[in-house]
Amino acid sequence: MDNQRPEIVTIDNQAISHLIDYCRRHGVAKLALIADHNTYGVLGQAVEAGLKAQGLDVASIVFDTPEVVADARHILQIMVTVDRAPRTYVAVGSGTLTDITRFASWRTGNPFVAMPTAPSVDGFASLGAPLIVEGVKTTYITQAPRAIFANLDTLVTAPRAMIAAGFGDIMGKFTAAADWRLGHLLWDEPFDEAIAQRTAAVAQRCTEQAQAVGEGSPDGVHALMEGLIDSGFTMLDLGSSRNASGSEHHYSHYWEMKLLEEGRPAILHGAKVGVATVLLAQLYDCIKALNRQDVSDRLEASTLPTRDSEIARIQAAFGDMAPAIIAAQRPFLDLTEAAYSALKQRIGDNWDEVLAIAAQVPPGQEITRSLQIVGGPTTVAELGLTAQEQVAAEQYGHYLRQRFTVRKLARVLGLG
Ligand SMILES: [Zn+2]
Repeated sequence: MDNQRPEIVTIDNQAISHLIDYCRRHGVAKLALIADHNTYGVLGQAVEAGLKAQGLDVASIVFDTPEVVADARHILQIMVTVDRAPRTYVAVGSGTLTDITRFASWRTGNPFVAMPTAPSVDGFASLGAPLIVEGVKTTYITQAPRAIFANLDTLVTAPRAMIAAGFGDIMGKFTAAADWRLGHLLWDEPFDEAIAQRTAAVAQRCTEQAQAVGEGSPDGVHALMEGLIDSGFTMLDLGSSRNASGSEHHYSHYWEMKLLEEGRPAILHGAKVGVATVLLAQLYDCIKALNRQDVSDRLEASTLPTRDSEIARIQAAFGDMAPAIIAAQRPFLDLTEAAYSALKQRIGDNWDEVLAIAAQVPPGQEITRSLQIVGGPTTVAELGLTAQEQVAAEQYGHYLRQRFTVRKLARVLGLG
């Protein structure tokens, strides 16, 4: 039940009447509306008025913190304000507000409905609620929304940076899908061809709409929102984020953790993912440029890093988090010489297939151009990160998930 897709998804200018129809169909009489100061102004207030005009009981929680974070403080604010009556929660906002609502509704045994106010992220239709707990980001598997009602008039007025971030998150699907194919080919990861194709197709369709997205036209924003929801559906259907989150998301997670740890302002998820996608598309470009002789020479010269040296790297990079990361990296850390030789053999034997996978990732220059068209950042400097922080993400980001990615392949090949 919990992993079901939403029963209805709409992207038009009738979001409020769709919500009212939903309440009528399901006999919903009590709701809890979660918004922040901004999203209440652009949509939440009208939603509340529309519901109350129907005689429905609406408990509204409007956060007035300058930057809403999906943390215990905000969840507690909901818990102490809303009564114990069964209510349908309504998230009016972007990713963070949706995640707060996803968690609070799930924990209280209530369903929720998402009303996105910005096409900024592909997580609306997901089960995962990433929360910051004690300064560490942890994803709780909770529930998907029962319905998504996106109001196009509201989406087109979203800050340009948020629209560009949604587009950046989508560009990451190119590298995520290719990384998954590599994981299947070289590391026997479970795989689903249809889902991989759907994931890359979302990125392709949005690329074709870059101009319209950049202009902020209703058609472009509609296509982007549809892409974000479709991307979420691929993960719901797979029951995992494997298809839509590869090395580009590992860089993004690395930067996010670092900013959090150092108390620096957060950067939009999709902005980080977009820049990381450029870097990884460039890495795929390097792979495409290798000839057979280069590959043989590189594999010949490649040696298994020692377990101790790898553990020392992880400890130096992650400090307190190192034990958890070391545990997750065990399949890589525990590689024997024989298994490493077999992996190198496999890479060499399947090189044509590796090239075919790399060919599915657009060149770094093309990803850069698409991001520029929508007005998104394309370099770490534009994100406000340093060159050293780029290198650190390249060196350590791949440790954050137990997944085989182009970064793992690049390490075997001695490519940076
Ligand atoms: Zn993402």
